[in-house]
Amino acid sequence: MNPNLPLAFLMEEEATINLQPNPVPELRDFLRNLPKAELHLHLEGTVTPETLVDLTRQPGRTPLTLDAARALYNYTDFTGFLMAFKAISEQLQAAADYELITWRMLQDLHRQGVVHAEVYVSVGVVYYWRRVAFEPLFEGMERARIRAERELGITLYWIFDAVRHFGPEAAEPVFLKAAELRAANPSIIGIGIGGDERKTGPEPFRELYAQAAAAGLHLTCHAGETVGPQSIWGALNIGSERIGHGLSAIHDPELLEILSTRQIPIEICVSSNVRTGCCPQAFDHPAREYFDSGLMITLNSDDPALFGSNLLDEYLLAEQAFGFTRDHLRELAANSIEASFLPPETKLLWLNRIQNYE
Ligand SMILES: [Zn+2]
Repeated sequence: MNPNLPLAFLMEEEATINLQPNPVPELRDFLRNLPKAELHLHLEGTVTPETLVDLTRQPGRTPLTLDAARALYNYTDFTGFLMAFKAISEQLQAAADYELITWRMLQDLHRQGVVHAEVYVSVGVVYYWRRVAFEPLFEGMERARIRAERELGITLYWIFDAVRHFGPEAAEPVFLKAAELRAANPSIIGIGIGGDERKTGPEPFRELYAQAAAAGLHLTCHAGETVGPQSIWGALNIGSERIGHGLSAIHDPELLEILSTRQIPIEICVSSNVRTGCCPQAFDHPAREYFDSGLMITLNSDDPALFGSNLLDEYLLAEQAFGFTRDHLRELAANSIEASFLPPETKLLWLNRIQNYE
């Protein structure tokens, strides 16, 4: 889910995810200790109401009570979702703010047994809405990343995300900044576009994607979340190595065949698709069909603080909604490592751990 999606994608009513309140404890423990990677996660979408309150308590800002913050997250339509996202973005002003939200995100991921994360940061929003330099903010993010790797053993790569409906002109400085900063910061691993798929497909970004690839950046793309399979074809045509969501591929057998043959990773976000109304309910999601068709799918949480979910819950939901066995869930965890941009030797290390995990 990209926070810049238009009102039309709003759910009129919140769908329930049908996650039972008390899943079998052993399964939760099994999944928590299962090494796994999170590949589709927006930094800004991890800010909880509690953290939002902490951000507002700084000098010169208007303090928000916890009840008021929670009310922001308690949205029932997309306008409310946008208000929540804007309220969060407006509080992200200094390097220390980015350091705090990155640190808390990584602590939370660590508690869920996530060993590696590849996280979108909306550099496009920073440039387009706030018009401030990104480098100082990035330094705050990096401080938290380095601390978490040292203290918690969790690794993190950044993906600089542009907003597609602001157009290629607005995306260009985002991708150039990723290429420029990457030289001194190998944690910047790739670029991506999110936003309103109805306003533009991926094709206008072809040239910029080619330039980013030439600069050594990996390519990702939100595609097939709110529109049909042509968006996914477009993402493949401009060289995207992974597909964010890929929900509408189910309507195109030829595309499914290509995704399966080429083992293009699909970053599945079930709760997100349900909460935004892109998918009526979890049981309707094509994740199981994709899995059974041999597609390389991974489970992800997208904007967990805004959707009331997290990656561990996504695995539990997958077990309940799709009947995945523990072996299947272990395979999904292995997929998340395989589909990551980690170096081969690190992938092997984690894949061996997963294979031997009981
Ligand atoms: Zn997303």
